[in-house]
Amino acid sequence: MSDCIFCKIVQGEIPSKIHYEDDNVMAFEDINSQSPIHLLIIPKKHIPSMVDVTEEDRKEIIPEIFKAIQKLSEELNFNNEGYRIVNNCGDHGGQTVKHLHFHLLAGRQMTWPPG
Ligand code: 5GP
Ligand code: ZN
Repeated sequence: MSDCIFCKIVQGEIPSKIHYEDDNVMAFEDINSQSPIHLLIIPKKHIPSMVDVTEEDRKEIIPEIFKAIQKLSEELNFNNEGYRIVNNCGDHGGQTVKHLHFHLLAGRQMTWPPG
């Protein structure tokens, strides 16, 4: 989508610090990091939010996203300490960028509940 920030990151039109990339998935550093490690894992194709995930996406792209998260947790060596995965969906979820993404936060003790 032409006016989507994350589509522009996928296209290389906006620079980002990429940690993982394959045909369908990309992981890059959040520009406003909330923890020592804060990555965003996204499908390369434009899916606005969890509400828009299709049956096909549930079979293909969603598992690939979680596979990338596990791979990153091992490569960056925070799998033993643990981490948090967050998806903000829609207005009540606090979603600000309307391209599906999963926050991967690690490197410090997280607290609960979130705001
Ligand atoms: P949301 O609030 O939609 O769950 O999360 C959007 C995230 O995207 C925020 O944490 C924000 O810091 C991040 N973000 C917004 N614009 C950019 C950008 O241009 N580059 C990167 N790397 N992250 C961005
Ligand atoms: Zn997009």
